[in-house]
Amino acid sequence: MRLENKTAIVTGAGSGISEEVAKTYLKEGANCVLVDLKNLDEQFAPLAEKYKNKIAVVRADISKKDDIAHVVETAVNKFNQVDILFNGAGIFDMRSILEESWEVFDRLFTVNVKGTFFLMQAVAQQMVKQGKGGKIINVSSQAGRRGEALVSHYCATKAAVISYTQSAALALASYHINVNAIVPGVIDTPMWDQVDALFARYENRPLGEKKKLVGEAVPLGRMGLPSDFSGAAVFFASSESDYITAQALNVDGGNWMS
Ligand code: NAP
Repeated sequence: MRLENKTAIVTGAGSGISEEVAKTYLKEGANCVLVDLKNLDEQFAPLAEKYKNKIAVVRADISKKDDIAHVVETAVNKFNQVDILFNGAGIFDMRSILEESWEVFDRLFTVNVKGTFFLMQAVAQQMVKQGKGGKIINVSSQAGRRGEALVSHYCATKAAVISYTQSAALALASYHINVNAIVPGVIDTPMWDQVDALFARYENRPLGEKKKLVGEAVPLGRMGLPSDFSGAAVFFASSESDYITAQALNVDGGNWMS
């Protein structure tokens, strides 16, 4: 087991990529603080039974200052430390450039940028206090690599995640805190139901068509699955990546070449 005696905070753990990463971290021996907007007690009850005393569930909004403090306090109170942050919670929406979108802008930047940054900051402060280094893994998107006509605000939030990853990695290197980002391509999670429905509306397509097309366009021939992230998420959380920081790793079946 590669994460034994480590404590990880995983945000967005109720769904998709982060849910799979949380399960993988548990298998690898980590204590996990599972954070989501919804209460995860019932969803994770079987795993709480299996991994006794290794799970703490926190209902929190990562864009709220008090909630962020509560997440870190829970980790410290229950497990004495925080060694890993998987900063996976995020939201999606789209609007055309010419359409009114103040509310969409605020919502996307509040969660994807403000939430991601300030949780990273709170965890980094705790890691510095502990003096043993740490691993921070932010979740960007292929949308953060370039603009998209209908997806401007989301693209900008995910570009910001890469930028903050780089700045934090440089700022925290002397504390032996590694900060990297994972950059998903198109991944078959509940988020894609919403993405597909929005593209259906904006591009006047039948439901399901966009999802089918994007999967077929991936060089490796299919959409990704949450389980396709387990390897990268464990690698960046483990000592195997001790000499890697400030990187943004595409996990996208070859969709983006860099
Ligand atoms: P998902 O299935 O929608 O899961 C996201 C989880 O985050 C949900 O459980 C959601 O809770 C939670 N969440 C949302 N806002 C939150 C907040 N303010 N505080 C705490 N939790 C919050 O999405 P996913 O596809 O796994 O995406 C995970 C990450 O990968 C996101 O950052 C996303 O932008 C990124 N990504 C996904 C894809 C893709 O193709 N799926 C591609 C590129 C990047 P609720 O369900 O209660 O809202």
